[in-house]
Amino acid sequence: MYFNETHEAFRASVKKFVDKEINPHMDEWEEKTAPLHDLFKKMGDLGFLGVRYDPKYGGGGLDYWFETVLLEEIGHIHGMGVSTAIAVQTNMATPAIASFGSEYLKQTYLKPAIAGDMVCAIAVTEPDAGSDVFAIKTKAIKKDGYYLLNGSKTYITNGVQADFLTLLARTDEAEGYHSFGLFVVPTDLKGFQVSKKLDKVGLKSSDTAELFFDEVRVPVENLIGDDREGFIIQMKQFQHERFAVLPGTCTAVQDMIAMTVDYLRQRIVFGRPLITKQVLRHRLSEWITRNEALRQLTYHIVRMKEEGLDVTKEISMGKLLAGQLISEVASGCLQMHGGIGFMNEMLISRYFRDSRIMSIGAGADEVMLEIISRIEGF
Ligand SMILES: Cc1cc2nc3c(=O)[nH]c(=O)nc-3n(C[C@H](O)[C@H](O)[C@H](O)COP(=O)(O)OP(=O)(O)OC[C@H]3O[C@@H](n4cnc5c(N)ncnc54)[C@H](O)[C@@H]3O)c2cc1C
Repeated sequence: MYFNETHEAFRASVKKFVDKEINPHMDEWEEKTAPLHDLFKKMGDLGFLGVRYDPKYGGGGLDYWFETVLLEEIGHIHGMGVSTAIAVQTNMATPAIASFGSEYLKQTYLKPAIAGDMVCAIAVTEPDAGSDVFAIKTKAIKKDGYYLLNGSKTYITNGVQADFLTLLARTDEAEGYHSFGLFVVPTDLKGFQVSKKLDKVGLKSSDTAELFFDEVRVPVENLIGDDREGFIIQMKQFQHERFAVLPGTCTAVQDMIAMTVDYLRQRIVFGRPLITKQVLRHRLSEWITRNEALRQLTYHIVRMKEEGLDVTKEISMGKLLAGQLISEVASGCLQMHGGIGFMNEMLISRYFRDSRIMSIGAGADEVMLEIISRIEGF
C-alpha cells in the first residue's frame, strides 16, 4: 500500500546485505564490537548510508519511504548494537550537516560519511547533562580563526571509532537557547581523547565512549550554521534520530514474536505444546496489535514528513510507544521461553538486554511525555 516496486527492490537488497554481511558476524561482533569502517564502506558502496541525501554528495536523493525501508530492514539485525551504529551514521550525526552545513562541510564530512569512508558520532550528552540538554557545560569559545573546545561527552555511540563528531557546545554564557553552537569535530585534532570505552548491559556490538576535549582548536569553518543557533539545530536533528527508532522497533518486535511462536509450538509442557495455552496466545496477539498501531503511526509520520509538516508530537508519541513496547515484548518473550530464554545462546536474551535502552536513549520516555504535554498545552 505504501511501498512501490522500487521500494521493494531496495528492501530486497538491504535484506540480502543484512543476511549475508551482518547477521553471520553478529555473535563475533557482540564479543568485540563491529568494525565500522569495514562495514560502512560496504554499505556506502551500495548506497545505504545516504538514501535521502543530495546526489551531489553521493546520496540517493530518495524519499522518506526509502529511508523507512532501510530502517525496517536493519531491524532484522540479530542485536540492536549494529542497527544503532548505522542509524547514528544516517539519522543522528549527519542530518544537521545536510540541512544547515556549508558547502565545505558537506564536501569534507557529509560526502565521506555517505560513502562510508568516514565514521561519525553524535556528541550531545555529558556526565551532568542528558535529558536536560540545556545544562551542557562543554564550551567552544571563539578565538582567531578557531573555536577553543573544552569539556567532556559521555555515552557516545561510535565514539571509539568515529572520524568526526557532530558536537553541541556552549558558545557563551548568555541565558536562553541562543548560546550554543553545533560543530563538526574531527577526532584527529590535538587535545581530543577517547577517555574510556564504556562497558554496557546491552548493545554489545556497538562501541560507546566517554570523550574528553582539552583545548581542542576547532576551525571556524567546522561550525554548522550560526554559532548561536546550535541548540535549535540539534533539536531539529533529534527528530531524525527519534524517528529512526520506530521502523526498526516494529521489525524487532515482529521477529521476537515469530521466534517465540516457533518455540511455543515445539515446547511441550503438561503434555501439550505451549502455544495451546490461550493466555500466551492472547498476550502475543495483543503485542501484534500494538505493534501494528506503532507501524501505522510510523507510516502516518512518513506521510506527514513527505508533506513537510511538523512531526514533533507524532515522533515523540512513536518513540514513547516504541520504547515501552519493545521492552515489554522482549521481557515477555523471554518469559515464554522459560529458563533457556535466560541463556546467552538464545537470541531472545540479546533482544532483552538490547531493548532496555530504547526507553532511555534518544530522549527518555519521560522526556517524550514532557514534549507531548507541552505541545498539547498543559
Ligand atoms: C547505550 C547508550 C548510547 C547512547 N548514545 C548516545 C550518543 O550517541 N550521543 C549522545 O549524545 N548521547 C547518547 N546517549 C545518552 C542518552 O541520550 C542519555 O542517556 C539520555 O538522554 C538520558 O540522559 P541521562 O542518562 O543523563 O539521564 P538523566 O537525564 O539523568 O535522567 C535519568 C532518568 O530520569 C528520568 N527523567 C528525565 N527527565 C525527566 C522529567 N522531566 N520528568 C520525570 N522524569 C525524568 C528518566 O527516566 C531518565 O531516564 C546514549 C546512552 C546510552 C545508555
